[in-house]
Amino acid sequence: MPTSEEHRFVYEFREGDRTKKDLLGGKGANLAEMTNLGLPVPPGFTVTTAACRAYLAHGDQPPGLKAEIDDHLRRLEEARSKRLGAADDPLLVSVRSGAKFSMPGMMDTVLDVGLTNTSVPGLAAETGSERFAWDSYRRLIQMFGTTVMGVDAREFDRALEDARREAGAETDVDLGVDGLKALVATFKDLVRHRTGREFPQDPAEQLDLAVRAVFDSWNTERARVYRRRERIPQDLGTAVNVMSMVFGNLGPDSGTGVAFTRDPGTGAPGVWGDYLPNAQGEDVVAGIRNPVPLADLEAIDPVSYRDLLRAMETLEGHYRDLCDIEFTIERGKLWMLQTRVGKRTAAAAFHLAVEFLDQGLIDEAEALGRVTGDQLAQLMFPQFAHRSRPEPIASGVPASPGAAVGEAVFDSKAAAERSGPVILVRRETNPEDLPGMIAAAGILTSRGGKTSHAAVVARGMGKTCVVGTEGLKVDTEGRRFTVPGGIEVREGDVISIDGTTGAVYSGAVEVAASPVVEYFEGRLDAADAGGVVAAVARMMELADRHRGMGVHANADTPEDAERARRFGAAGIGLCRTEHMFLGERRRFVEDLILAESRAGRDRALAELLPLQLEDFEGIFAAMDGLPVTIRLIDPPLHEFLPDLTDLSVRVALAEERGRVDEDQARLLEAVRRLDEQNPMLGLRGVRLGLVVPGLVAMQVRAIAEAAAARIRAGGEPHPEVMVPLIGSVHEFELMRSEIERVVAAVSEETGVAVPVKIGTMIELPRAALTAGPIAESAAFFSFGTNDLTQTVWGFSRDDVEGSFFPAYLELGVFEVSPFESLDEEGVGRLVSIAVEEGRAARDDLIVGVCGEHGGDPASVRFFDRIGLDYVSCSPFRVPVARLEAGRAALAGEAADASR
Ligand code: ADP
Ligand code: MG
Ligand code: MG
Repeated sequence: MPTSEEHRFVYEFREGDRTKKDLLGGKGANLAEMTNLGLPVPPGFTVTTAACRAYLAHGDQPPGLKAEIDDHLRRLEEARSKRLGAADDPLLVSVRSGAKFSMPGMMDTVLDVGLTNTSVPGLAAETGSERFAWDSYRRLIQMFGTTVMGVDAREFDRALEDARREAGAETDVDLGVDGLKALVATFKDLVRHRTGREFPQDPAEQLDLAVRAVFDSWNTERARVYRRRERIPQDLGTAVNVMSMVFGNLGPDSGTGVAFTRDPGTGAPGVWGDYLPNAQGEDVVAGIRNPVPLADLEAIDPVSYRDLLRAMETLEGHYRDLCDIEFTIERGKLWMLQTRVGKRTAAAAFHLAVEFLDQGLIDEAEALGRVTGDQLAQLMFPQFAHRSRPEPIASGVPASPGAAVGEAVFDSKAAAERSGPVILVRRETNPEDLPGMIAAAGILTSRGGKTSHAAVVARGMGKTCVVGTEGLKVDTEGRRFTVPGGIEVREGDVISIDGTTGAVYSGAVEVAASPVVEYFEGRLDAADAGGVVAAVARMMELADRHRGMGVHANADTPEDAERARRFGAAGIGLCRTEHMFLGERRRFVEDLILAESRAGRDRALAELLPLQLEDFEGIFAAMDGLPVTIRLIDPPLHEFLPDLTDLSVRVALAEERGRVDEDQARLLEAVRRLDEQNPMLGLRGVRLGLVVPGLVAMQVRAIAEAAAARIRAGGEPHPEVMVPLIGSVHEFELMRSEIERVVAAVSEETGVAVPVKIGTMIELPRAALTAGPIAESAAFFSFGTNDLTQTVWGFSRDDVEGSFFPAYLELGVFEVSPFESLDEEGVGRLVSIAVEEGRAARDDLIVGVCGEHGGDPASVRFFDRIGLDYVSCSPFRVPVARLEAGRAALAGEAADASR
């Protein structure tokens, strides 16, 4: 026997409770909870996850485990007055996997362990059913053969099918004793042939092997893939539950079923589940025979039905949540085999949180803990109407949810040319496809995963996106794609893509707008709409009341700013100015770069000024009374110039024809000069402002004049100028004096005192590490966690996400891309240091974050923990961030409960 608690590997059901999921797994902890509630749970014990971890680390059972299992088995035998696999009246057990987080169907379970050639007759005699005994034996050999001994499951299925056909039996229930006996013999032969070993006849050996197999099933490929997708750590291990068997396959007065305490689709109360008479556990899910609706059980076995409803009521009252249940009825007696807080749709989650809150069963913190930002995001995407959905023509990775319908186009140019909605179809996307992605209703690619460029950008823009579409052949030049079935889609043909499921349809599928978005847009009243809209409105109110952190939006245009405000943003955390240099305005940038004299440069800048001014006025008007943080131009200048290769070819051709265009040749020279090996680390951000004369002055002048105009018009603009990509306080100070000089000049000229706050982005490690001195001179910090992640890891995002990130995720270097969810240990540590040292230097320093991470639930919790003033994210993510900020404020317990 073990000497101390730490070295205990086995717990009886009655020794556990639901708080011990880490140690006993979810299934074990909840079996313990049900046992202690007095519900009819077959007795048994749980081998801990610690035992599994030790087993996986050493490749063998840890010392003492076997003795402990033997000891608990003996106690179980005493309690049931039966012996495992004895020749007469044998005890049989199930050996069930069960990790901390539910992983449906991912790991193994073996039923009827203990049956052998000698105990089958004993079981037959005891139950009075020879058929049942042989049916149980064939089930054991089948499950044990596949999960423990590694025989292909399909071989057993085939043999079973053959046996049925020979006997003329419609289903397995119609197989008689002789048929089953023959089948057992066939199964044993199968095991012998495929493994070179006999099916083990020692019950103790069966138990031992089954326990090991469950441990091993933690590391199967499909389990690992599942955990990666669900962000479940790979090192938790699984518990093993050993439980006395109860039999649903003992005849028509027996059966098995699954049930929910209410409808998991809507959260509405009611009897919800399936029942399969004369069957054992797996049969319901396996779809061997069709189950009947749970309500039919009332007529079949009213007593068990009543007991079951009462047990469900007990569970829901106890867990104060929707539960799902596995049960078995053995000759008119109900047994509870499993329960857990049930998975539900996003809509049901919001309904249930409000309903339980209203009934006083849970408090506000817990209610908020039961809905997630991801669920809210799901409710905000349009969806295909349920009726009239055709067969998909292809299927890919669902990368950004929603439903999009449009004409297929194959590049940005075609996207811009068509007037109606389009779907951009590419092999994969890169920054050059941005205009096309902006114009498109949806994006479809044949390559890439959930962190590919297309996926990340689409999520940021709230656009429907399907990536990595198997078998999709994109022929960009031919302007068409084909799918495996031979269907060809040409440019202009209408397709529909579902970013929630990954399905691709030919033709237009009907789309329904999200009522939740209609509500945020102010087009739908929550009280009138009722249903999920009312529930969402209620939870948003809770979140806003509890949250400490502000939510701002990243918005570059007046339209985006207006939407952000409707969605509840308290300002703009990042207004990028890049688009103000694109399109028609590109040629002014060319002029600016080519200008040889100060006068030429000033002329180009003077052309740009009024255009920018107009943009800023619109944004200030949309955000009247709220801060608008404007980032000075950030990307390298060559992004605004023609492509080097294209231009080289053009100039070379012109030369050949003897018609050299002076301007083109000079432009080519400039483009060559500005071409960089690593543009991400080149001439960009503050560096541009410091070396291209007049550029920053022009932008600041536009901002200040726009603000002055707004003030004169009776508005209340709060412009904040943000300097990107500084590494040293010196860079910042040079910029600041330039900015102050221009603002003072504008105030003087217009006679309006323009209030402009000047701050900086913190997006380079050096800036984070010298935050103290920087804060002495900057009024605010905004963490650019994208660039910070790139520079902390030394990753060029556009290069790594498509190439080796999938391998890194596979290898477990990280469980989720650091561009999707903030890397707390590395990047997060720098952010913490900068916040601390920045605030120490200036106590009224405002600290926020802009970039994808501002809308990511896990990252939002981190930012709340380290005390940021606000997060800023795309307008569509604003409600998500509000909700998550509310959840974060109500601390760890709320967040934990949502798993
Ligand atoms: P999963 O996690 O895949 O649901 P389970 O461990 O719950 O696997 O078991 C598979 C099936 O066997 C379930 O339907 C379960 O109810 C049933 N089952 C498990 N243990 C027993 C038992 N002791 N007696 C009868 N049925 C059982
Ligand atoms: Mg189960
Ligand atoms: Mg940046």
